[in-house]
Amino acid sequence: MSTPRTRADWQAMADGLQLRTRAFIDGQYVDAADGRTFACTSPIDGRVLGQMARCGQADVERAVRAARRSFEAGHWSRAKPVKRKKVLQRLTALIEQHADELALLETLDMGKPIDDARNVDLAATIRCFGWTAEALDKVYGEVAPTGEDELGLVTREPLGVVAAIVPWNFPLLMAAWKLAPALAMGNSVVLKPSEKSPLSALRLAELVAEAGIPEGVFNVLPGYGQEAGEALALHMDVDGLVFTGSTAVGKRLLQCAGLSNMKRAYMECGGKSPNIVFADAPDLDKAAEAAAVGIFYNQGEVCTAASRLLVERSIKDEFVARVVEAGRKMQPRHPLEPGAPMGALVDETQTRRVLDYIARGQAEGAKLALGGKRIAPVEGGCYVEPTVFDEVRPEHTISREEIFGPVLAVIPFDDEAQALEIANDTEYGLAAGVWTANLARAHRVARGLRAGSVWVNYWDGGDMTAPFGGYKQSGNGRDKSLHAFDKYTEIKATWINLAD
Ligand code: NAD
Repeated sequence: MSTPRTRADWQAMADGLQLRTRAFIDGQYVDAADGRTFACTSPIDGRVLGQMARCGQADVERAVRAARRSFEAGHWSRAKPVKRKKVLQRLTALIEQHADELALLETLDMGKPIDDARNVDLAATIRCFGWTAEALDKVYGEVAPTGEDELGLVTREPLGVVAAIVPWNFPLLMAAWKLAPALAMGNSVVLKPSEKSPLSALRLAELVAEAGIPEGVFNVLPGYGQEAGEALALHMDVDGLVFTGSTAVGKRLLQCAGLSNMKRAYMECGGKSPNIVFADAPDLDKAAEAAAVGIFYNQGEVCTAASRLLVERSIKDEFVARVVEAGRKMQPRHPLEPGAPMGALVDETQTRRVLDYIARGQAEGAKLALGGKRIAPVEGGCYVEPTVFDEVRPEHTISREEIFGPVLAVIPFDDEAQALEIANDTEYGLAAGVWTANLARAHRVARGLRAGSVWVNYWDGGDMTAPFGGYKQSGNGRDKSLHAFDKYTEIKATWINLAD
């Protein structure tokens, strides 16, 4: 079937979808042990899409048992790398084949524009699985430098059972960044998608089975963080805990690891990324466009959103006018409408949170230069205008806290040293941007920024070939690239005595 082209085509496809609403444990869809469910609501129009299994402690026990059994059985964990590679390549092909459907599930579930779901989320998910499958049989061990009377082998072994807890802003892609390397290294996985976006992970489970990954190696538990999530984090038989989500929850999960079995715990958390524009930026129109897209893309619900725009004072007013112009063109529309620049925020709670921050910005004295209101391109949905605050001071709440919505804080600066000081004055350290035609300054500032990714003269570059993750309270560990394998393997040293 060819990709739908119009909103009516996508709607027709949506009307014909059969949603998977039950947990996936040990190769089968099952109800929660106690039969409980929760409503899955679309933020497009507030419609209830289905009643999802609400997993709790008993389901976690079942899934972890299945994962452990499959791990010990060895059909996956001890399979030759080339076999795992072929299966993951088959899975990549299946995701590609079902990309329209998976993209549609993302849009219905969390409100992002369908074009973004299809061309960004799904494209990147396919690339993630494909790249990882291709890489997995090129991971070598080491031979330690020794004298002739001994041999020191350094080998990687899978952790065992990995619990992956992921957010709703890129539901399938954030899961893929964990699943692909975890499975590639031979682990068994229990995935808990966000309660706000469980649909694509549950559909993926079928594709995983169809690709030939043995029963029990991949399990999906829909449910709430404090129930299924925390039970996984505290479980004594989970060896690795990988998380993407807020810093507050990441900190709690590190505690859970310490309170239980000291499981390996890697957190990818929030951000408040500075985008620094110097007066000598090579192309101010391009920089203004990127500043707008950097904050309004995905309704601002991006961990690397360019949420703090630092502009050199001499060009500030002119530059802000250009950003406002670019932002004005990005009004939310029906997410199934091809070409919609913004869609719906994920739910009512998030919408209220964003509106509260906007009110706070005004109350603290920042100058509203664009937007600021809830609108209703679709009745009953969760939509907020692209919003720009000018004359924000570094101590204002909207320049310190992660809003995770379409709200930009513009902060002027006078020189390079001040720009760096303001940029680094945050508990976060996920990403940052620098716009300048001065090569030496670009390198100097990039070095001075305490962030895991720095972009020079563009925003949000990246690929599977490079690691992604945060400094400071934006997290530990790295997703993507060969570095990701470190999170899913133990490193063993084996010493062999060669002396007679
Ligand atoms: P969240 O922390 O509220 O939830 C993330 C996941 O954790 C969900 O599955 C949730 O159910 C679960 N959870 C919540 N409380 C839990 C608990 N007590 N125990 C166990 N699990 C629990 O985050 P969110 O609102 O889903 O996502 C937005 C956040 O994710 C933002 O802060 C954003 O910056 C961050 N994020 C970071 C990255 C990155 O790579 N660094 C990428 C995307 C999103």
